[in-house]
Amino acid sequence: MTATNAANAAGQVPNGALLASALEYAARGWAVFPLIPGGKRPAAPRHPAHECDRRTDFWCRNGHTGWQERATTDPGRITRAWSSRPYGLGIATGPSGLLVIDTDAPKPGARTPAEWQGRATSGEEVLSALVADHEPLPDTWTVRTPSGGTHRYYLRPDGVELGNTAGRLGWLIDTRAAGGYVVAPPTRTNTGLYEVTSYAAPAPLPAWVADLLTGPAAPPPGTPRTVTPDLDRVTGYVRAAVEGETTRVRQATEGTRNHALFIAAVALGQLVAGGALTETTATALLLDAAAGHVAARAFTDAEALATVRSGMRRGANNPRTITPRPAHHRAA
Ligand SMILES: [Zn+2]
Repeated sequence: MTATNAANAAGQVPNGALLASALEYAARGWAVFPLIPGGKRPAAPRHPAHECDRRTDFWCRNGHTGWQERATTDPGRITRAWSSRPYGLGIATGPSGLLVIDTDAPKPGARTPAEWQGRATSGEEVLSALVADHEPLPDTWTVRTPSGGTHRYYLRPDGVELGNTAGRLGWLIDTRAAGGYVVAPPTRTNTGLYEVTSYAAPAPLPAWVADLLTGPAAPPPGTPRTVTPDLDRVTGYVRAAVEGETTRVRQATEGTRNHALFIAAVALGQLVAGGALTETTATALLLDAAAGHVAARAFTDAEALATVRSGMRRGANNPRTITPRPAHHRAA
């Protein structure tokens, strides 16, 4: 019987099972660290870097030391930590040389981005679509999460900088690498148990995945451009403006997403004020364009709507009318 199976589905995971797994991971070269029992957050340090006094916490005596630096493969330290409390088990993916592909189920009430409507309803289905366009994923160490997600562990290739990503591979797919961690079996959080579903040795990360993670962000392959029916009724010039703005929102990268949405809302707000399209249509188009960012948790639906409304109010101060250029006169 494995340590993971020793975890009773109904009860607490015994310290011994957590300790045995922690030692097993360490023997594989995976750096582990304790999580607050029942939660997903690191148990230490208990203070953020900017509140470090270098005295209260022994590990910070020579400068603030975060969870990644504290993660270890040392059996002595691991045994001491997990003998004292039933800490959850975190694996620091950075020092472990791992890249974990994390597929999730959609949050209740989450909006499906336009490009995935009718194609996928979960991160697993999005990943299947990617696989269909590339190559199969090799068998690898795999974990089921209590929220219905899946963690696939891969060996990170040398010579490529790979950090954490959210939604970069696709809707509901995150990756954890340098600077990241995963909650590992047999941790039980308040939402449930993490369980190993494949004990296969971690496979090298497929090159096509590394390429998608390092190359320019692209729309999902084979995605037909969806044209909102409402948009068919507006003139070509307005339509071009709308498509330009919504494309910029869709393609906005981390850190610029909310700003891109605001700028686009200002631009469309000007067109609404000029009578080129309705406020309802403009709002729907902008929220649709932002759906991928909501799925990637850059902001919530409510925050996206607030940004759209605020931008459109700003745009309304400068109404814009688009006058089509005169048609070419054809020689008779
Ligand atoms: Zn500190």
